[in-house]
Amino acid sequence: MVLILAADIGGTTCKLGVLNEDLDLLHHWEIPTNKEENGQHILKNVYDSFKKNASLKKYDFNDVKGIGIGVPGPIDFENGIVNGAVNLNWHGKKNIKEEMMQISQLPVVVDNDANVATLGEKFKGAGFNEPDVVCMTLGTGVGGGIITNHQLVHGHNGSGGELGHIKVDFKERFKCNCGNVGCLETVASATGVINLTYHYYEELKFSTMLKENILNKTVQAKHVFDAAKAGDEFATYIIKKVAKYIAYAISIISVTTNPKYIIIGGGVSKAGDFLIHHIDSQYQSMAFKPSLDGTKIVTAKLGNDAGMIGAAGLVKQYILEAK
Ligand SMILES: [Zn+2]
Repeated sequence: MVLILAADIGGTTCKLGVLNEDLDLLHHWEIPTNKEENGQHILKNVYDSFKKNASLKKYDFNDVKGIGIGVPGPIDFENGIVNGAVNLNWHGKKNIKEEMMQISQLPVVVDNDANVATLGEKFKGAGFNEPDVVCMTLGTGVGGGIITNHQLVHGHNGSGGELGHIKVDFKERFKCNCGNVGCLETVASATGVINLTYHYYEELKFSTMLKENILNKTVQAKHVFDAAKAGDEFATYIIKKVAKYIAYAISIISVTTNPKYIIIGGGVSKAGDFLIHHIDSQYQSMAFKPSLDGTKIVTAKLGNDAGMIGAAGLVKQYILEAK
């Protein structure tokens, strides 16, 4: 039996999984991320938990052929080096591949968390094993991953697929975490929805059911979506703006790698068909017409499991199938 271990390392928890060759998730669990002392215990904690659970979940460690890891930071994929991951308290360059190989004595593949989630959706989710898919994760920030001809795009320094930092707001109203202004992340993440809500309320003085939340500064993205779904004119105006910025970014991606599926994931995507409908109608009017043929905008299917499945997918692609 061939087993693959997968770790999706996040700022709060590490999602750990044991998968077979077909990337079926046989067991999965979580451990808290210990960020103390510059996060130096994280990889060892992950390995110890895999070891401990081998006896608990009755799997044979001798069957394990590799470990796939997703981390929230920019990656030098070839060498498995992350160039800082603030959420994990990792500063500067850290060679994750080397460190985990030394701890585990197993082959290790490491990639950025948004990339592994994209690979997960391609193998087992909304990507349906298509060679060309793109995933955009709308959460607290906006992450992205591009797969072209079955391969994740990393680029020459690992910045390939950083879709959240495509500039879409040329009025440059909001500052991005990356230091620039006007990135997609500033107008399409959960924070972005809130940014636009406060901004336009001030400017347009619409009457809206969100008024109390706006005045109390307690607006959440979900409030805006719920109000829009209930027919609130102001909230609908905001969601159309959000959808337009996303559609603009997608129209650029469409003429760049021409993906078959554009998968929208993350917390904001829980707005589901409502959001997709608005994105799609703007996209149809904006995109290069030949690129529209057969291209579909869909919601992600795997939720929190996408990262683990994709991390295991890295092992399948780069270790098992590379032999
Ligand atoms: Zn940015």
